[in-house]
Amino acid sequence: MNQTSTNKKAVIVGCGIAGPVAAMALQRAGIEATVYEAYEAPADYAGLFLNTASNGLDVLRTLGIDVPSRADGFPIPRMVMWSGTGKRLGEVANGVRLPDGTVSVVVKRGTLQRMLREEAESRGIGIEYGKRLTSYEVAEDGGVIARFEDGTQAEGDLLVGADGIHSRVRRVMDPEAPRPSYTGLLSLGGYALGPRIPPTTDTQHFVFGKRAFFGYLVRESGEIWWFANVARPEEPSRKELSGISSAEWKRRLRELFSDDIDLIGEIIESTQGEIGAYPVHDIPTAPTSHKGPAVLIGDAVHATSPNSGQGASIAAEDAIVLGKCLRDIPNTEGAFPAYERLRRECVEKVVAYSRRIGQSKAISNPVARWLRDQVMPFALKHFANPGSHAWLYTYHVDWEEKVAV
Ligand SMILES: Cc1cc2nc3c(=O)[nH]c(=O)nc-3n(C[C@H](O)[C@H](O)[C@H](O)COP(=O)(O)OP(=O)(O)OC[C@H]3O[C@@H](n4cnc5c(N)ncnc54)[C@H](O)[C@@H]3O)c2cc1C
Repeated sequence: MNQTSTNKKAVIVGCGIAGPVAAMALQRAGIEATVYEAYEAPADYAGLFLNTASNGLDVLRTLGIDVPSRADGFPIPRMVMWSGTGKRLGEVANGVRLPDGTVSVVVKRGTLQRMLREEAESRGIGIEYGKRLTSYEVAEDGGVIARFEDGTQAEGDLLVGADGIHSRVRRVMDPEAPRPSYTGLLSLGGYALGPRIPPTTDTQHFVFGKRAFFGYLVRESGEIWWFANVARPEEPSRKELSGISSAEWKRRLRELFSDDIDLIGEIIESTQGEIGAYPVHDIPTAPTSHKGPAVLIGDAVHATSPNSGQGASIAAEDAIVLGKCLRDIPNTEGAFPAYERLRRECVEKVVAYSRRIGQSKAISNPVARWLRDQVMPFALKHFANPGSHAWLYTYHVDWEEKVAV
């Protein structure tokens, strides 16, 4: 339920995942928010697909947003691991079942983004496009003035940087803040149609291939969503990646997976449309997530590699925790440190965990690979149970509970 208005205004920079969720959480806390997005128009088709884990679904639900029923997602309670030769290595739960039976869902990023944007708009939240933040400054009254590339500006009592991994807000807040760190992996993916693979009901499959890692799921319609992670020690430039055609990626990927189960090559070959490719970065730690009237949430402060399937979920968690802190602590000097105290340890743990998973995907040494394939079945059976990941998947925010000052 909405708190009575505080007469405070927030400028939120970025309308990806964290931005619209923060706007809705702040609205509940009685703060009027407007979201400013760099894209000229809604980018509803940007990105491939991502996991929205049970913890993310849970906090979105607290804000009255039901992702599984609206985002055309694929429910994935479990993940099955295979070696490149087709040996089953084991399985691991993808999150927990919420009390009503809801499980983690894999959704197209663009669909999730559109759904959150539309939901925010339906609640009366303003979203302005073509507003690329270039800088901001603290106003004389302690508020904030945000400046955009088109020469316009916006004023508010506080500013929320939800502008993603290459955050401009972070750079203005702290020019010395750590830059995103390259993890040594490329991520590629696409959508395929053609190979007769039965629907992978409830399951996403992962193959630790000889030279690269492959993940896929097959929907009832026969559409296959896939991604690959390829080790690449030196970071490629954007120019290099954008200069590689999808046909060339198909050729390179087929070669990389030529010693692994045939199914991978068939899926890659049947890909329709573009194969997206990007270098995987993360931000393991940032000295601070706030300064004066500005605060960072989501990838802007703790971008995680996608290996743990948590980027969207922890961004949503940040947004709702920030909303609660601003509701219960009347000034940003108190609310922002409380937000950081409640979030830092958890998000840094996720980023580190995610990077560790990435390292197991790209093992070039044949002995180390053999060892991984021997140890993994035992490790998955004995350590990768829902209890061992409870710290991640059962994160819950009770909106009614007051934040301790
Ligand atoms: C185009 C795109 C595609 C992606 N594809 C995938 C994917 O396929 N798989 C996956 O796991 N994750 C993907 N991600 C990352 C994933 O969405 C995020 O890790 C996660 O959802 C956290 O969300 P966020 O809101 O913090 O950041 P983001 O989702 O990155 O959103 C940040 C938003 O801020 C906007 N922005 C950036 N700079 C400025 C500025 N100066 N002024 C105003 N607005 C600005 C961006 O345009 C974007 O809309 C993608 C992100 C983007 C932006």
